[in-house]
This record gives sequence, C-alpha cells and structure tokens, in this order.
Amino acid sequence: MKKPRILSGVQPTGNLHLGNYLGAIRNWVGLQDSHECLFMLADLHAITVPQNPADLTRNTRETAAAYIACGIDPKRSAIFPQSAVTMHSELAWILNCHTPLGWLDRMTQYKEKVGFSPSKTIETLNSQYSKLNSENDSAFTKRNELVEEWIGVTEEFESKRSKSKLGLYAYPVLMTADILGYHATHVPVGEDQKQHLELARDIAGAFNRAYGTEFFPLPQPLILGAATRVMSLTDGTKKMSKSDPSDYSRITLTDDADAIANKIKKAQTDSDPALTYDEKNRPSVANLLTIYAALDDTTPQQVAEKFSTLKTGQFKAQLADLAVEKLSPITARMRDLMDDHSTLDNLLKDGANQARAIAAPIFEETKRMVGFLQV
Ligand code: ATP
Ligand code: MG
Repeated sequence: MKKPRILSGVQPTGNLHLGNYLGAIRNWVGLQDSHECLFMLADLHAITVPQNPADLTRNTRETAAAYIACGIDPKRSAIFPQSAVTMHSELAWILNCHTPLGWLDRMTQYKEKVGFSPSKTIETLNSQYSKLNSENDSAFTKRNELVEEWIGVTEEFESKRSKSKLGLYAYPVLMTADILGYHATHVPVGEDQKQHLELARDIAGAFNRAYGTEFFPLPQPLILGAATRVMSLTDGTKKMSKSDPSDYSRITLTDDADAIANKIKKAQTDSDPALTYDEKNRPSVANLLTIYAALDDTTPQQVAEKFSTLKTGQFKAQLADLAVEKLSPITARMRDLMDDHSTLDNLLKDGANQARAIAAPIFEETKRMVGFLQV
C-alpha cells in the first residue's frame, strides 16, 4: 500500500530553537518509516519579513544541517529549499484567487507579526458594548468610552497593517500551496500552526468546490510530542520564537553548554519556590517542567513528582544538565555538516529534484482544471 505523504518545514531565519526541535523537527524523525516525507527549508516564507541575503543563504544551510543532525535521513526524505521548486509560488497564486480576504483577516499570527497587540481586542470591546444597557445614563457614558477605545484599537491596527507587506498577509495561502502541491495528507507542526492548517483545509475545499472535484485532499495537522507549544523563557505566556528580539527567550540548537545553563538559570519563574505543575497559574514553571519532560520522554507531572523535594532554582540546574546532554550531540553534528557546503548543497539538489518530480504532474493537472491553455 502507498504510504501517506507528509510535508513540513521551518523558516531559515536563524535562531533555531528548542520549540522548533520539540514541536516539529524531532517528531518528523519517527514519521520517516511510515510516511513518504518532504521537508522544505521555507525560504519563501522567511522573506515575508526583511532578511539579509547572506544570512538567509547561511541560515538555509544551517537549517538543513539541523534537520539532518536531528535525525532526518536525506536518503529517505526529500530535504530542499522551498524556492527551488517553482510550484510553491505558482500554485499559491492560483489559490490566492480562491481565498476570501475575510478568511485571512482571522489569522492571529498575522496580527502578532505586524506587532498588533492591543490590551483589549475588538471582540472583547464588542461584547462589553453589547452587554451595556443604553437606557441608563452611566451605561451611556460607558458605551461612549468603549466606542472611543474601539476607534483607537482599529486605528492602531490600520496603521500597522498599512506598513506591513502583502506577502506576510498571504503567508497562509503559500503554506496551503506547499501542502496541496504535493497532495500531502498530513502536516506535522507545532500547535501555533493549527489555525493555518484549518485555513488550508478551507482553501482546498473552496478549490475543489469551484471545479467540481475532490482533487486536493484536505490536510490534517499532526501535533505530536509532549511539548507542542514551548513557551518563551522570559515570558511563560508567549511562545518561544525565532523572531523574539530577546536571545534569552530561547535556547537555540547552536548554543553551547554555558549559554544553555545561563539562559535556564535566568529563566522566568514565579514567587513560589516549590516545584509544582500548574499550567494555568504557574505558566513559566510549567514550561520548564514541560521542556524537561519532552527531553526525557515523560510527563511534566512525573517530572514535578520526581523532583518534588527541589526548589525551582535547584530544578533549573537539573534541566540545564539534561538540555546540554540532549542538545550537544546535535550541535556538534550540525557544525560538522556546515563545514562541508558542497555535500550539503548536493543533498539539497537531490531533494529538490525529488520534490519537483512529485509536484509536476499535480501542478499540470491543476492548471488543466483551471483552464490554462497548455502550449
Ligand atoms: P518565527 O517567530 O519567525 O515565526 P518560529 O519560531 O515560529 O519562527 P517557524 O519556522 O515559524 O518558527 O516554525 C517552524 C515549526 O516549528 C512549525 O512547525 C512551528 O509550529 C514549530 N514551532 C515554532 N515555535 C514553536 C514552539 N514555541 N513550540 C512548539 N513548536 C513550535
Ligand atoms: Mg512561526
């Protein structure tokens, strides 16, 4: 029987971190036996925010080295730069023409990336407004205040949006093309990509309905592992990100033992020195326990139990030791791979050829369905 096909990728924007490893790359390794795998270096996605060209090239190789160092086998899985397969951009254009703007307006990642983080959302303001009874004088004043706030939030968003680039807004459509263009049925990602995957299903459905076909399978997210959303080390309520301006917010795959220990030592905790797992009330401590659990293949509750006699500060030393033990072989292997550009580039060339061979007939059929004249 044919193996199901999966597609995933990481943006080569540097700062590859523990969240990328635990939420994505590590989970890909085990899927290589049961699935046909394509792992791209998402450089087209990377340029949705400004990139220095030399850094982008370097980070593309470094991300490929990370995939391989984490256990992706280039003999079994296609590893390639997304931009090397033109289908991604071409199919994205066709899908752009089937995607209502309203669907993209709902994407939360876009709002985060344009730097829009109001203290109250429009939805909160709307709901507060509709709960007030305008018959009464103080409610009338309160309603006026809410309208003022509403105007302020809308203006802030409009000002951020008008300066942001079209590519950033269209990012989820490109991501849909990445997946549909290979007829991939499963997409292993971290929790933050769930909303984009739902959109990919909607766009696939819209295309299929428009042409009276079931040509594009509706892709499913595979959100795997014990740490599907690793949080920032400096703010337990925000996800760990490559784009966070603070280097202390993340442990990267290129950090040495001292840097790892130092970052964990400085990591945010709370005023309670006891080590207990309470995701809702103690997010930063829960994050450290979750990271330990994911690295040790256990659960955060078990980790809290195992170290129940330790204070959070003492536990940090245990976590640093484990993180160094697990990450340092990966860092060393990445360094070796980065020393030999020509071998790495040849692997990526082979990967791109494999990817093109899968994508070509699917894209030809898509163009035929749309009605493009074949010449
Ligand atoms: P950026 O901040 O530039 O968007 P990123 O850290 O979100 O970078 P991506 O390249 O966008 O990294 O994502 C690559 C993969 O890593 C995706 O599957 C994503 O879901 C996963 N991922 C990213 N951050 C985390 C995290 N904090 N925890 C778990 N998975 C994550
Ligand atoms: Mg991201």
